[in-house]
Amino acid sequence: MSGPYESHSRMLSVFENLPKDFLDTPARELHRLLRGPTLIHLPGRREPPLFVSVLLHGNEDSGVVALQDVLRRYLDRPLPRALSLLVGNVAAAREGLRRLDDQPDYNRVWPGTDLHGGAAEHAAMSEVYRAMQARGVFASVDIHNNTGINPLYGVVNRLDPAVLHLALLFSRTVVWFRGLAGSQTTAFSLLCPSLTIECGKAGNPANEAHAADFIDACLHLAQFPAHDVHEHDIDLYHTVATVRVPPAVSFGFGDTLADIDFDPRLDHMNFRQLGPGTVFGRSRLASPLDVRDEARRDVADEFFACEHGAISLRRASTPAMLTLDVRAVRQDCLCYLMERLPFPRHVTR
Ligand SMILES: [Zn+2]
Repeated sequence: MSGPYESHSRMLSVFENLPKDFLDTPARELHRLLRGPTLIHLPGRREPPLFVSVLLHGNEDSGVVALQDVLRRYLDRPLPRALSLLVGNVAAAREGLRRLDDQPDYNRVWPGTDLHGGAAEHAAMSEVYRAMQARGVFASVDIHNNTGINPLYGVVNRLDPAVLHLALLFSRTVVWFRGLAGSQTTAFSLLCPSLTIECGKAGNPANEAHAADFIDACLHLAQFPAHDVHEHDIDLYHTVATVRVPPAVSFGFGDTLADIDFDPRLDHMNFRQLGPGTVFGRSRLASPLDVRDEARRDVADEFFACEHGAISLRRASTPAMLTLDVRAVRQDCLCYLMERLPFPRHVTR
């Protein structure tokens, strides 16, 4: 094993070989091998490299398992394409958490962040970004899990054919989201076709195998097809709002004493087309939810009504990432609201 290379950020380690035992170490134990976020460049038959980031959220380990699976397939032969992989928050993974309380979210610290420009994690991820830019990165994939009941789906920031071809290698369900400042995919969208994949709940072997096959397919991609994707191949959604519970508002799922008592089967509504009047829960507050559009404008009254103690949708929409995990709601959001996107007039080259 070579390295670690001299790295500008004290936090980041850079290797040009797989650390010993990497393939056999679960995410929770990676802290034994890696002292923090680690960038590993591996050679392949083709250049430039595919970039894959895993464990930006420490409790989302499907990406680690998938990468280990793929790399085991090539122990005795070269990778089809060079692969640069980033292992993110090993300290949070040790605790089984998205992030530690004193850490910023590793998926909000990339170039373009408006919150964490002074953080050591921002310096580390900026160095990763520059390193991949210098290598002419072929495509970028950021691998996540979620905690509710969701299909496997990809999230893109742009709607050009190359990005959609990349997304369709993973799933026909694709969400277009202009993105959060400082997220990995938002940053890499300026460099190459970039995708976030949502692999459902962590710990599901079928989802891990699907992610592994997807990475393998990306490594085999010689180039992006020039032709457009076809409407019948894709279920395309556009994220129109992010729903959060304000920090001062208490909530639960089947907890009548909380400020908001959400439906305890809320996560069964993910990726279902919901009509106006669909009830999310009950509250005595007049406007209990924080709802923002892509420009972060307050659109709570546009999407939700709170009358006679019931919180209900005011307009038709489709939620994603609804979860019953209280910590996930506090650290991220309650859900995203989406609309089916007319196709293909939004797709531009
Ligand atoms: Zn995540």
